[in-house]
Amino acid sequence: MEAGQPIKKVMRNLSRSLPAGGLLLCLLIASGALGEEGGLFGQDPGLKGEAEGMRRMVLRRAERMRLARPDTGEVDFRDYDIRVRLHPARHFLEEEAVVVFRSRVPRLSDVDFALYDDTLAIRSVTRGRDTLSWAYDDTLWVLHVRLRDTLALGEEDTLRIVYSGFITPELSRSLDYACLLDSNLAFCTYAPFVWYPAPYDYFYSSRVDDRASGTVRLIVPKGYLAVSSGALIDSAATDTTQTFAWSTSNPVVEFNFACAPYAMASRPYAGIALRYYDFDTTGAGYTFTATQSVLDFFSRAFTRYDYEKLAFANQYQPYGYGGYTLVIMPLPGGLSILAHEVAHQWWGHVVGVRFLEEVWLNEGFASYSDALFQEDSLGRQELRYRMDGWASWYLSLPPSEDEPIVPAPWSSNHYYEIVYLKGAWVLHMLRGVVGDSAYFDLMKAYASAYQDSSTTVALFRQVAEQRSGRGLGWFFDEWLFRRGAPRYSYSWEAQRTGNDTFQLTLVVNQLDSLFEMPIQTTIYTPGGAREEWPRVDGLSDTFRFLLSQAPDSVLLDKDNWLLDRGITRVGVEAGTPSLPLTTALYPLHPNPFHGSTNIEYSLAEKGRVRLSVYNISGQLVRELVNKAQAPGRYSASWDGRDREAHRLPSGVYFFRLQTEAFSDMKKAVLVR
Ligand SMILES: [Zn+2]
Repeated sequence: MEAGQPIKKVMRNLSRSLPAGGLLLCLLIASGALGEEGGLFGQDPGLKGEAEGMRRMVLRRAERMRLARPDTGEVDFRDYDIRVRLHPARHFLEEEAVVVFRSRVPRLSDVDFALYDDTLAIRSVTRGRDTLSWAYDDTLWVLHVRLRDTLALGEEDTLRIVYSGFITPELSRSLDYACLLDSNLAFCTYAPFVWYPAPYDYFYSSRVDDRASGTVRLIVPKGYLAVSSGALIDSAATDTTQTFAWSTSNPVVEFNFACAPYAMASRPYAGIALRYYDFDTTGAGYTFTATQSVLDFFSRAFTRYDYEKLAFANQYQPYGYGGYTLVIMPLPGGLSILAHEVAHQWWGHVVGVRFLEEVWLNEGFASYSDALFQEDSLGRQELRYRMDGWASWYLSLPPSEDEPIVPAPWSSNHYYEIVYLKGAWVLHMLRGVVGDSAYFDLMKAYASAYQDSSTTVALFRQVAEQRSGRGLGWFFDEWLFRRGAPRYSYSWEAQRTGNDTFQLTLVVNQLDSLFEMPIQTTIYTPGGAREEWPRVDGLSDTFRFLLSQAPDSVLLDKDNWLLDRGITRVGVEAGTPSLPLTTALYPLHPNPFHGSTNIEYSLAEKGRVRLSVYNISGQLVRELVNKAQAPGRYSASWDGRDREAHRLPSGVYFFRLQTEAFSDMKKAVLVR
């Protein structure tokens, strides 16, 4: 490290990867190929590669963090004025960033910026007419500037940093938060430090909530369009160039941009413009209509969408990035990724996250917001389908590779499954525990309480406790700070205790680690169903319920409020044989399923029983039971394989139960 060193190499070892400081706001894997339905449920081979890429980047960041001094929060960045001249044909950019900052300490003599310098070269750092002394640390990727005068607490200063360099076209770099697509000549940036001098925190502190206002002025060749964060405040043309200036009125956590020979379409929405940047705009109508319903719903559920615009820019990469007022994603993309990225306007921008290790507050929230939107627009079944799919994906992780959601498991191969999918489930379970009305009330209260600021898990818990009127420490502790999911078995029996009274005894056992959870328990009697929520927290808990009719069956977690590794009914014959049984086929659990699913049925009469699985074309794929059975309760499981033990593809299958007097069918969804 040497002060005032001259221009550095512009192209260096391109295979060197970036640090992962910019994991702040989402990298959601979408899959164009799998489409909307399969997008988040299928095992996309591209996903594994991406997860591996993320893991490597995070480890690199961790290596560097060990070398770095801790961030001391000395500097409050106030405003950016960034001018970017793009030369797409040369993959080259020239930049100038004017940064206003304020001291948070009594004596501030140096300022550190995070700036990825693999392909960017710093030309000068000035203050007014003075050239300042600076140094660039190659190992830490930090620009170190010595101020001319020491700043007192609260005192402001302004620096101008001039730099230039390449955004490289390597496809492998697409994960590095800046991309350039050679054939289409598109630049996109996601992470601040790859294109402007960002707060030091971005690399070396887990605290990531510095906010600044800013203007980004993009000068591009004629025929190109450029879009960035905030509102379009200026657009001008010369014979050869076009300038687009974008400005934020709110202090924001980061800026990003996209530039390409795009075409643009726009549509007014609630006093702002929705904008669509793509090489042709045929997907604009769909995207606008979808976005309107997404914004309507989130505005209703959280807070009103109050930003300058919402733009979408196509980047032809199979994942999205929810930047402030600018979503970069494959267009026209599935509804799920769109809803997730738009949800980041709330979970990431309206309400920021204070510490990177609590990124669940962004990602788990955005994922569950997508599920809520699907529920709102397509119905309860859609929510169930989504949550079941996410559960089976998370639960298919080997338990030894599971980790808590907080702190974010950056070094895990399963960051996505843990933080996004199980993360969404934590909110779903919270909703189950506190009930719909308290849940939606607390989300609204949380969004408005921390609007335009940053938050923590502890603050979210506080709002949840206030609004639901109950202590929830046990809930957050076990679901966020501990790994795993519970596994249960249960049995029940009923005894006649009077002419019209029966006592139901329910025993619930926990088979793995102990969780404390109220479990939805549905008791079916000839007269109807009754719902209870016994709180299960021990190895073996016994509950008693008084009924006026003999129960036919007892089902745990009928509506799927619980993320579990299995709820198995045991002691099939242990019910009271004297009770009248009905012949019935019960809902599958889990459904949709990933590995295997269980089905229960009961027989009122002795006789021949056939339980078979059919595919969607009506072909028999597997026979599970074909024999005479006595009255009683039975269960069977199916592993998604046919008679020859071949794994069957994802899709809809039907379970059919047939006796001499009875036939019924249940639908199952297999998710590979
Ligand atoms: Zn996200």
